[in-house]
Amino acid sequence: MSGFTIMRLRKENEMAKKFQGKVALVTGGATGIGKVTARIFAREGAKVIVSTDKNIKGGEDTVRLINKAGGEATFVKCDVSIAVEVEAMIDECVQTYGRLDYAFNNAGIGPDGKRVPVVNIVDCPEEIWDRTIDINLKGVFLCMKYEIRQMLKQKYGVIVNTSSVGALKPVPGFGAYSASKSGLIGLTKTAALECATSGIRVNTILPGPTGRTLLYEYLTGAHPEEKEQMFNMIPMKRIAEPEDMAEAVIWLCSDAASFITGHVMPIDGGMTSG
Ligand code: NAD
Repeated sequence: MSGFTIMRLRKENEMAKKFQGKVALVTGGATGIGKVTARIFAREGAKVIVSTDKNIKGGEDTVRLINKAGGEATFVKCDVSIAVEVEAMIDECVQTYGRLDYAFNNAGIGPDGKRVPVVNIVDCPEEIWDRTIDINLKGVFLCMKYEIRQMLKQKYGVIVNTSSVGALKPVPGFGAYSASKSGLIGLTKTAALECATSGIRVNTILPGPTGRTLLYEYLTGAHPEEKEQMFNMIPMKRIAEPEDMAEAVIWLCSDAASFITGHVMPIDGGMTSG
């Protein structure tokens, strides 16, 4: 093969990637849905900022996997519930890669029977309520606040937030979680309206029960009887894979979805249809 052909093939390969020259941020990128989405952003040519709070090993592992596959990624430690840390994360993103095109605000916690109890409202400790709202709802508010400031300067950006089917189909014992994820629907739609003429789109996905995630492992580990119950609630009769969420996020960020904003997208095998 001639040098010219190799160069042409290389160029075609680069052009085939959706996000060549773009920069993506993924919060909660240490594990589960965030880890897989970060890797697919990189597969599509984006430079990726992988962020998480405590699980630094997991975040650095995501970066290692991306770099090993020929992509480019950087780890930034950030607790999304703390404003100064979020502002610093966006600053670091811009300092490192010069811009911010896509933000997947995915970090979150939920009842897992261990770190966060499954508990009815009457017994719910105030600290569980506060922590859940702080990370799942205020965390996304803070991320969007600083992401949108940067995206307004660029007149371009796409944000995808992670809500949950729990926002539309609440179950007993998940009060704080359900409230936080329902709040994200209003927050996403508000941001979409505020940014509608600024070249910035904002959408949210609502994952159904998703395998290979810490939340799923903890939930089914602490309450194995719930695994079958959960399965039975899904019309398509399978648990989602993180890839089901990641590919939808990638599509929402792509130009194929250029007229979609303020959209609330369940990815749940039909769970919220009945
Ligand atoms: P996960 O527990 O594997 O991932 C959560 C990620 O968020 C981890 O990387 C964790 O380190 C990070 N995180 C937690 N608190 C943080 C904080 N204060 N600051 C920064 N990062 C923090 O689970 P997952 O399922 O991949 O979760 C991703 C998102 O999907 C969450 O918002 C979750 O609520 C949502 N979700 C998950 C399911 C499911 O079945 N797994 C269903 C619906 C929605």
